[in-house]
Amino acid sequence: MSLTDSVTELPGVGAKRAEGLQALGISTVSDLLFYFPFRYDDLKERDLETAIDGEKITIKGTVVAPPVVSRFGPRKTRVNIRMRVQRAVVMVTFFNQPWLKDKFHEDQEVAVYGKWDASRSSLAGMRVLATQDADTPAMAAIYPLSKSVHQAFLVGLIKEAFARYAGEITDVVPEDVRTRFKLLSDRTLVQWMHFPKTPQEAAAARRSAIFREFFLFEARLQSLKYHSAEPVNGLVIPFDNARVRQFIAQLPFELTKAQKRVVNEICADMRRPLHMNRLLQGDVGSGKTIVAAICMYAAVTANFQCALMVPTEVLAEQHYAKLSNLFRDLPVRVALLTSSATPAARRNILADLRGGDIDIIIGTHALIQKDVDFSALGLAIIDEQHRFGVGQRDLLRDKGLKPDVLAMTATPIPRTLAITAYGEMDVSTIDELPAGRHQVQTQWLHKNQMGHALTAIRAAVADGGQCFVVTPLIAESEKMDLQNAEAVYADLQDQLGAQIPVALLHGQMKQEEKAAIMRDFAANTTKVLVSTTVIEVGVDVPNATLMLILDADRFGLAQLHQLRGRVGRGKKAARCILVADPSTEQGISRMEVMTETTDGFVVAQKDLELRGQGDIFGNKQSGMPDFRLGDPVTDFNVLDAAQRTAGEIFTVDPELNAPEHQPLRAELAHLVAINGTLN
Ligand code: ADP
Ligand code: MG
Repeated sequence: MSLTDSVTELPGVGAKRAEGLQALGISTVSDLLFYFPFRYDDLKERDLETAIDGEKITIKGTVVAPPVVSRFGPRKTRVNIRMRVQRAVVMVTFFNQPWLKDKFHEDQEVAVYGKWDASRSSLAGMRVLATQDADTPAMAAIYPLSKSVHQAFLVGLIKEAFARYAGEITDVVPEDVRTRFKLLSDRTLVQWMHFPKTPQEAAAARRSAIFREFFLFEARLQSLKYHSAEPVNGLVIPFDNARVRQFIAQLPFELTKAQKRVVNEICADMRRPLHMNRLLQGDVGSGKTIVAAICMYAAVTANFQCALMVPTEVLAEQHYAKLSNLFRDLPVRVALLTSSATPAARRNILADLRGGDIDIIIGTHALIQKDVDFSALGLAIIDEQHRFGVGQRDLLRDKGLKPDVLAMTATPIPRTLAITAYGEMDVSTIDELPAGRHQVQTQWLHKNQMGHALTAIRAAVADGGQCFVVTPLIAESEKMDLQNAEAVYADLQDQLGAQIPVALLHGQMKQEEKAAIMRDFAANTTKVLVSTTVIEVGVDVPNATLMLILDADRFGLAQLHQLRGRVGRGKKAARCILVADPSTEQGISRMEVMTETTDGFVVAQKDLELRGQGDIFGNKQSGMPDFRLGDPVTDFNVLDAAQRTAGEIFTVDPELNAPEHQPLRAELAHLVAINGTLN
């Protein structure tokens, strides 16, 4: 007898039911025992005096008159039962269950669970309870169900499984950890989760179950990390330290302390025979590109190739221009590949990559197409990695020699969430901005104050600076975004006059067109760039000092923060103006957050509070795991504790050889067997 037994070993589970259970993710007894309810009905009798309007309560009393069935609308019925409860008379109504009429008769003692309407002294009945039945639990667990699996059947089956298999449940969380955090043993946890006698028992079980869920997840991460760190797996990139130092020394600026630290962390990984999988986090403008350039140069000195993948063509062009310039006097061959390349150009680039005639390739997702092969890819870097799905990242990682991977992001994620979303990655953080930067002054204007915005544009240009004007996002219609941008463009040309050259940039332009417009803007030939969100990430024009965002309430906080990050990248003071008449509380809050802080972590935390994590990490794409019980945001502390604990265990016993770690070891082996790797 074992928890891995199929549920078909239990009485009453034939092929058909097994299939229904399977659809709920239940195939073994263990799955069944750990299939938890999402809420409980409190079936203890309640004193009407203390019941709150809208609350779900159980009342007990005597039926005072025969039930009355009435019909309303097509096929809708209502059964009304008058009951004396304590000293009051309560009307109990059941909707669309006409057969209940025969279940009630005058003078009968009954208990009913339902929703209390205080003003009418009535109860919308949800279930009838047998009064004499000593078996009726005080708390009834309510489970997520499917069409073929009903509540009563599931409850009965879980009861049966627990009776037979309770002795088999072992503790995945070691005893000393349970003692430290006051957690229940797995057996009690399962029992109280399904059959609690009090709300307190249910709460205690839930707390322990959340810890257990997070702990198992973190233990899996630890185990993956431990095994992938085995030296045999990765490339050794023996770069030329002297040349790298020389390169850094001739840069036009001194690296910040944080940049030096992360360069060292990354380079140390490249030298080691492990498979680097590292996240480089740093707020907008913190200088991630130069870090990437240094590391790529290092790889090139060891005769490896590098790939730099970015989410937009505009950004690919920009990086290409910057890196070509940076490596101008060095024997480094840089190339650009996007989906706009002509077939002939593309063929040439692919041949050069394969032949080892390109050292650094910069591109969009065009880089992960099947026919892109390298002769010796050593380092793959993904810029603005949050814009890519996990699958796309993996495609680049699986190219050729299995290169070391560096993912870069400016989207700040609270630490514990980062652990979870990027758990199997090591994290390097640039936590300071280059010296001399000013905070971007942010101001919120209403639409009828556009005059101020125009004045600000003229002032910025008169001061030698440049402006971005970002046009609003119209729900899911690129065409309308474009019309909007064109209208704003025409209007601004009109208002600003011929002395201030304005340009327009949008996603539907040809790549050469976009490149030319960006070049003119970077060269300070055009002063104002009207653009859709194609400039949202990565664009770096240090002379731009004003960011004007129209209908700013249509953008999310993360986007607004990214957009604002396009200015304040040079030595001059910079401003951001949000023009918006928000119609929702949330929209107002977003404007307020933006004017109150420029700290990306604060913005991210507020974003989380305003939207909830589901929206931010809502899809599998992001790599954020689905937890069944725990919520990584609200149960932040539990996740943190689980993460630390798992880390401690793997530090002292990475193979899980200790006797107290055997249940955990077995569980992890089982999880790997059924799911493969994570997600
Ligand atoms: P991000 O981290 O947002 O990608 P970038 O790499 O584009 O930022 O850098 C922003 C700007 O800061 C660039 O113009 C870059 O040349 C400049 N920069 C980077 N590092 C430094 C530094 N240590 N000192 C001064 N300027 C720097
Ligand atoms: Mg960048």
